[in-house]
Amino acid sequence: MPRRLTKRGEDRTPLTGDYDAVICGASFAGLAVARELAGASCPDGSPARVLMLDRYEVGERQTSACGIPTSWLESMGLMGAHRQTFGELVVHTPHHTVRWPLPWTFSTFDYPELCRLLFEQSDCEFETAKVNGRTGHKLHTDRGDLTAPLIVDGMGWRRLLAGGDGFQPPDAPLSRGLEVHPGGESDDLEIWIDRKYVPAGYGWSFPARDELRIGVGSFDPRFHVKDTTVALADDLGSEAVRYQGNWIPHQLRPATEDGIFFAGDSAGHCLPLSAEGIRTALYFGIACGRELRSVLAGTQTREQALRSYGAFSDSHDWKFRWLLRGQRLVPRLRPRSLRALLTSMTHRRLVGFSFDQYLRIAPPEFAGTPPAPRVRRVAPAAAAAQL
Ligand SMILES: Cc1cc2nc3c(=O)[nH]c(=O)nc-3n(C[C@H](O)[C@H](O)[C@H](O)COP(=O)(O)OP(=O)(O)OC[C@H]3O[C@@H](n4cnc5c(N)ncnc54)[C@H](O)[C@@H]3O)c2cc1C
Repeated sequence: MPRRLTKRGEDRTPLTGDYDAVICGASFAGLAVARELAGASCPDGSPARVLMLDRYEVGERQTSACGIPTSWLESMGLMGAHRQTFGELVVHTPHHTVRWPLPWTFSTFDYPELCRLLFEQSDCEFETAKVNGRTGHKLHTDRGDLTAPLIVDGMGWRRLLAGGDGFQPPDAPLSRGLEVHPGGESDDLEIWIDRKYVPAGYGWSFPARDELRIGVGSFDPRFHVKDTTVALADDLGSEAVRYQGNWIPHQLRPATEDGIFFAGDSAGHCLPLSAEGIRTALYFGIACGRELRSVLAGTQTREQALRSYGAFSDSHDWKFRWLLRGQRLVPRLRPRSLRALLTSMTHRRLVGFSFDQYLRIAPPEFAGTPPAPRVRRVAPAAAAAQL
């Protein structure tokens, strides 16, 4: 069980006030927005009041298997959270195994440490509070109401701050993913395309130095992945312990709505073919943060920022649609065609070209040089852990 660090009882004091910007959600998307707002000023030169909210402390609850192109960790100055690097992807089907030589490496990282490092690149205020909804630009939390002209929803697929369009599993375009985190070591980053584990989707084992992250993701939200996650762990001789799972969006949704900014899973910023959503949450979070920063500085209005960020997100739509086609095609392939497709990817030039195109959807250079925070501080979760 993760250790609970969130404020409870008497520590949960009332929380009210007016802020220049409130970022809801302190995971990949929200932390990337906050990074871009470090040191942000208002037109009169005063520091902008930026608040970040999450129902848990920063980094307290892991939300993924934490696999990402290594270049993203490097470009964001997050190598301190690095666990293990892989130059190959091992792909298993029921009848054969192939090794794809990747043109760039993939790494796993430690979630609490990455969140801590990212939080330290920002200088916003942070409070643990559960966001329940909003009325206009007034946010309702379990500790009170807050107002801000700039509000970001980085709280995941529920898209809590949107109008509510009945977007719910199993009818909504969502995948489901579940994994276990037993202790163990391996040199291989592995995936399984095997109907034994999931009719449409894949299983994975992501080693992270002394831990394996073994899971199953189904593109069909009606397929329950619990039994097959346990089966895969069992087949690998690992224990099914320390579960982590969630719904994963596989379709873009509007990145702005009714004056609110959405980044990460709340805007469907998760690549449909692979369910890779960390670097895209960082990428779109950075884009969103840059727009907000110029609103705070008075160089554009909120409406201009909403239009600009919305258009930026929309401009990626065709790439997401292509990946969705791929997601739908793979489960329909006959074993012989699947084998031919997977084997073709063992050719360096083809795998290099495909993975380079895939990386370009959210390239690491986009991270750029982060603005300098006004104050240097320690993330709350880390501070609590030191007690
Ligand atoms: C099992 C599994 C494994 C995955 N593995 C990978 C992987 O290896 N690589 C990859 O790229 N992607 C992976 N993904 C996808 C990836 O986890 C998501 O796309 C990514 O986490 C999205 O980031 P985010 O910041 O938008 O949302 P999240 O990471 O989901 O963060 C949302 C934040 O909002 C907070 N929050 C939610 N509701 C409230 C509320 N009401 N009030 C206050 N705070 C709230 C949460 O506590 C959380 O901190 C995986 C997904 C699953 C389910």
